[in-house]
Amino acid sequence: MSAELAGLNKCPVCAETLRRHRYARLASIIVNPKNHARLDAFLNDVKKRNWAEVLRFDEWQGDADIIELYGIKCPSSLFALILIRSPFELFDDDHILETECLTRNESATLESVTTKKNWKPLP
Ligand SMILES: [Zn+2]
Repeated sequence: MSAELAGLNKCPVCAETLRRHRYARLASIIVNPKNHARLDAFLNDVKKRNWAEVLRFDEWQGDADIIELYGIKCPSSLFALILIRSPFELFDDDHILETECLTRNESATLESVTTKKNWKPLP
């Protein structure tokens, strides 16, 4: 896992600690400095909740930064999205680029399209 979600210690939805919450890695994309258009398209699909596109990305490369998208499932049944940049340099820490809370409708949709994901409990 991405260093305990890059130090996230409060749920963006309920502002409580992350006990009783679950998380899943939804997607990851390699950051290619020569091809920002691809990353922009991915981030735009995240914004538009275009899950069919977003969930296709499951990339990893040992010598490149990646951007990972995690979902957090709050006991309130609402979801949050966390975008984390994960550098390949070991001395660089993962850091959170953005957190976003989903509406009730968006949360229900995300839940229905990610039933096959492994939603793991947070400590
Ligand atoms: Zn919560």
